[in-house]
Amino acid sequence: MRIDLITLFPEMCQNVMSESIIGRAQNKGALKIECHQLRDYAFDKHKRVDDAPYGGGMGMLLMAEPIALCFEDICRQVGEKPYFIYMSPQGKVLNQQKIKEISKNENICILCGHYEGVDKRVLDAFVDEEISIGDYVLTGGELPALVLMDALSRMAPGVLSDDECFTVESHYNGMIEYPQYTRPNPWRGVEVPPVVISGDHAKVDKWRYEQSLIATAQKRPDLFEKLDISSEEKQRIYTVIEESLQGENSDKN
Ligand code: SAM
Repeated sequence: MRIDLITLFPEMCQNVMSESIIGRAQNKGALKIECHQLRDYAFDKHKRVDDAPYGGGMGMLLMAEPIALCFEDICRQVGEKPYFIYMSPQGKVLNQQKIKEISKNENICILCGHYEGVDKRVLDAFVDEEISIGDYVLTGGELPALVLMDALSRMAPGVLSDDECFTVESHYNGMIEYPQYTRPNPWRGVEVPPVVISGDHAKVDKWRYEQSLIATAQKRPDLFEKLDISSEEKQRIYTVIEESLQGENSDKN
């Protein structure tokens, strides 16, 4: 996977993406991230890329032409038109399903807005999709783009090792991940559930699946209701939760 980022702050983004798992993935060639300075495509000597909005109003807008020139240059470098995303609070709110869809593209380009946003004409001309990271407004598209790039990078083949694999994580299958434990056991007198250290992998898998269902029902009932399991199974999970809460209450009394 190759991701090209159009931004006023390429160093900041490059620094974040050169750390840890994503940095290592780039070093071994599983992933390529290129951050482009929008000002390099300005056409005046002051490297200006913004101007006041027509019709008046607060703030400045990123101009269409530097963005168009930068994107066309990226298309030349990549050898095709990458899937082009504009980070925007007006876009579709990001979730794991959306990440799965976008990650099917081998080449992706992301535009970070700034100030009051971007001249609409360049969005209409080139952008495939607007993506938001939530219903709130940030000062620029860099942090949202970093969130998107991190989530996309994890899906690229060769980025995660087997033990970091994304397919058993929260949201991949519409569920929350099961609880996990590490050494020591016990910790401050609290034992890990015996099944986890039983060595019986079939039992551990069964327990984890049930714990995922329980966690989803408790923490994200909206997701639990959408799960493709029978209403009897859902009812069974609600009963397990109720019984465990009753058990906890009687322990306290
Ligand atoms: N005037 C714009 C509006 O009302 O929709 C908001 C502009 S915002 C101050 C500046 C830039 O930050 C946007 O162009 C966008 O790139 C980015 N941004 C802000 N909030 C975002 C969010 N929730 N998700 C994605 N990008 C966001």
